[in-house]
Amino acid sequence: MLWAANTVIRKFSTSYAKLQNKLNLALIGQSLFGQEVYTGLRKQGHKVVGVFTVPDKDGKADPLATVAEKDGTPVFKFPRWRVKGEPIAEVVEAYKAVGAELNVMPFCSQFIPMTVINYPKHGSIIYHPSILPKHRGASAINWTLIEGDKKAGFSVFWADDGLDTGPILLQKECDVEPNDTVDTLYNRFLFPEGIKAMVEAVQLVADGKAPRIPQPEEGASYEGIQKKSNAKVNLDQPAEAIHNWIRGHDKVPGAWAVIQGQVCAISVHAGVGTHKACRCLQVRSLQFEDGKMIPAARYFSPGDTTSVELTEEEKKMAEEIRVCVCGILSNVNVIEDTTDFFKSGAASMDVVRLVEEIKEKCAGVPLQNEDVYMATSFQEFVQMFVRRLRGEDQEEELVVSYATKDINNMTLKMPYQCFIDGRFEDAENGKTYDTVNPTDGSVSHTHEHAHALVSSARRTHRCLCLLLCACRLADLMEEHQEELATIEAIDSGAVYTLALKTHVGMSIQTFRYFAGWCDKIQGTTIPINQARPNRNLTFTRKEPLGVCAIVIPWNYPLMMLAWKSAACLAAGNTLVLKPAQVTPLTALKFAELTVKAGIPKGVINILPGSGGLVGQRLSDHPDIRKLGFTGSTPIGKQIMKSCAVSNLKKVSLELGGKSPLIVFSDCDLDKAVRMGMSSVYFNKGENCIAAGRLFVEESIHDEFIRRVVGETVLSSGCSAYSWEFPIILFPFRSDTIEEVITHNAHCRVSFCAGYFMEPTVFTDVEDHMFIAKEESFGPVMVVSKFKDGDVDGVLSRANDTEFGLASGVFTRDINKAMYVSERLEAGTVFINTYNKTDVAAPFGGFKQSGFGKDLGEEALHEYLRTKAVTVEY
Ligand code: NAP
Repeated sequence: MLWAANTVIRKFSTSYAKLQNKLNLALIGQSLFGQEVYTGLRKQGHKVVGVFTVPDKDGKADPLATVAEKDGTPVFKFPRWRVKGEPIAEVVEAYKAVGAELNVMPFCSQFIPMTVINYPKHGSIIYHPSILPKHRGASAINWTLIEGDKKAGFSVFWADDGLDTGPILLQKECDVEPNDTVDTLYNRFLFPEGIKAMVEAVQLVADGKAPRIPQPEEGASYEGIQKKSNAKVNLDQPAEAIHNWIRGHDKVPGAWAVIQGQVCAISVHAGVGTHKACRCLQVRSLQFEDGKMIPAARYFSPGDTTSVELTEEEKKMAEEIRVCVCGILSNVNVIEDTTDFFKSGAASMDVVRLVEEIKEKCAGVPLQNEDVYMATSFQEFVQMFVRRLRGEDQEEELVVSYATKDINNMTLKMPYQCFIDGRFEDAENGKTYDTVNPTDGSVSHTHEHAHALVSSARRTHRCLCLLLCACRLADLMEEHQEELATIEAIDSGAVYTLALKTHVGMSIQTFRYFAGWCDKIQGTTIPINQARPNRNLTFTRKEPLGVCAIVIPWNYPLMMLAWKSAACLAAGNTLVLKPAQVTPLTALKFAELTVKAGIPKGVINILPGSGGLVGQRLSDHPDIRKLGFTGSTPIGKQIMKSCAVSNLKKVSLELGGKSPLIVFSDCDLDKAVRMGMSSVYFNKGENCIAAGRLFVEESIHDEFIRRVVGETVLSSGCSAYSWEFPIILFPFRSDTIEEVITHNAHCRVSFCAGYFMEPTVFTDVEDHMFIAKEESFGPVMVVSKFKDGDVDGVLSRANDTEFGLASGVFTRDINKAMYVSERLEAGTVFINTYNKTDVAAPFGGFKQSGFGKDLGEEALHEYLRTKAVTVEY
């Protein structure tokens, strides 16, 4: 019995409650917006007792009428409600007869008499696409953009007898993006959110909770209706005002100008903006009086008037297209070659239909809505379609100026200009600088770009297309690996074989690895406390950050580029990368390959130049949302400060290190010697995780040194030796060298001529010495002893550093190895190995070696943000 009673109560408090507080509504309006509001209200449980909309046009019913008629809802199509200012009695009576409790007016172009507005017991609510009291009047969205407002939005308000002056029920707002147009604002916010808000507003009225907030007079504005006749562009004003004017009219009514005596409608689309600095404006397309649209860039080039001869197969396709067009233009009996799609009555919905129908018939054709606007007559459309099918309609070819060099049995072709928005171009001020080949001192010129053109870095999407591009890019890098490795060798002084295997080899692997992530970035669902009687679900979305900057050092120019760029792109961002000033050439060659790989323009931009100028500009830039940095600790600190002060951009810092390597007496000594040497000398010691200090247990110390010195002497001068250390590009300052020599008795330092230095071993190094504390970034082994069995003692010495990038331990005792690895304060610990990095393993430091990870899944999260979404249902 008790159980039965509980059941009844529970039923009452859930599903039964949903049936309460529902209204009988009259919907007065039109268009898709009206249709969606109608559907949403019915879904919410309200009853639409009458739909009042506009009469059919050319035999076609308005979308609101179409859906309501299907449902059997009474539909009225009065052409007008008033004559000479007086309500038409029969119309008003017909309206009153439906018995509505509230009038909902989602999009109403007719003048509705006050007797109707005030008739229902709750009155009337209206949608208006501006944040009232701003932009009252019929062209609110246009004026929001024309006036350069930073916020757009809409209001649902109570109708009164003024013009958009009634009390506010609810309002919602969004940011206006620099390239928003009327279309984008409407489609991404005002339309979808507006529908939801109308439904929400009706429920508030039904629940007796709808506010009536009087509109303030302060900030109120009323602007006239924008028509074609008053949409002429005044070219005598700043670029931003022109940009706002054009986008404020796009696409309806369409801004226009007279160019060479011809009236041209001008349109800007998302992704095209102003370069404020040079006060110029990029126009994407022009449309002439006859309705024909062309890409603006082709305005000055003579049109391609030659038409292509169709093959039999293509003629068949043309006929299929003719059938599609005929189905859409039902009012035209015969589709001639000259039949113009728009002049024959097609609207924007018909464009979508045409494109979809053709795609269905000819799978794989790259066709977009815009193509229909560009080729409006049937014949033009077929010609465009056939050229597209034949691949003749390709993007303009990449133009590259190269510096060339005959070397390594090949002729290197090295781009040297900045790479911006898919093009190689000179620096804005034409400034160049010399980049030196450390093996012979010869120089090449590279352009230094001072302005970070962030507007050219466009948003991209994580998608299959990106995945395919990244795979293609990796393949292309492999195809060009000898060329890339040779450029790396002459630009950074890398040993060719190592450049081939590591600098280039791991870069290729990195792109392949992250290509696999492109379509696997996903959030999670999270159980949260329920808010009874409703239930909730929380899930997270992983979103790209937008435009990211990447600043990298000179020791692994291509690999550092790959580690950061691949993760950044896989996460769906675009990037502006500054290579080290002294090693820009592989980055620019890489840029050339990205175009061949099909990576869209503007996704990758490479700006060579100095850290103080280009790097600093990127750190300060207000439109960049993330900076990924690899380099020294002092510069890392400066970057973090600039990122904080400018716009609090997200930062990850991969900084310097002084990584300890502990060699216990119970190790495999042969292996410890071999790996101990490569831990220091790999890539000539120009390695951030190079073992900066070796701690060797006393009982094996002398033997260890004997073997190491023997190997070192043996391999000096032998450039083909496995860890290729005898040549080095060495950035030591001379005072450091002095300090090294005066503080250490047992040292052997010798320099080759020029930029290179031979490998060096220091023994008996004490903890207070300069070389025990500072990163050497060269082929310098620093060895200290520790007492037999003093595990905790050596651990505390190993951790006594502000760096924490990597570390290592050699021992056969697994318990000791695990004990030590747990206590070493470093982002990476190698046990019985060293330098074993992998594209799938996260890499990054602790303490003043920075934060954030490169490589592995964790690297993706450096370039993503997490949004938590909570739904009540
Ligand atoms: P760096 O002097 O810090 O330079 C790194 C990059 O920062 C260069 O592109 C540099 O430009 C730029 N830069 C300089 N000043 C800047 C500023 N004010 N704003 C923005 N960018 C600026 O380092 P490096 O000497 O090239 O490289 C060696 C360091 O990198 C070592 O400490 C090494 O340990 C570290 N590193 C760390 C990792 C890791 O993963 N943790 C990997 C490799 C290297 P310029 O070219 O004009 O100097």
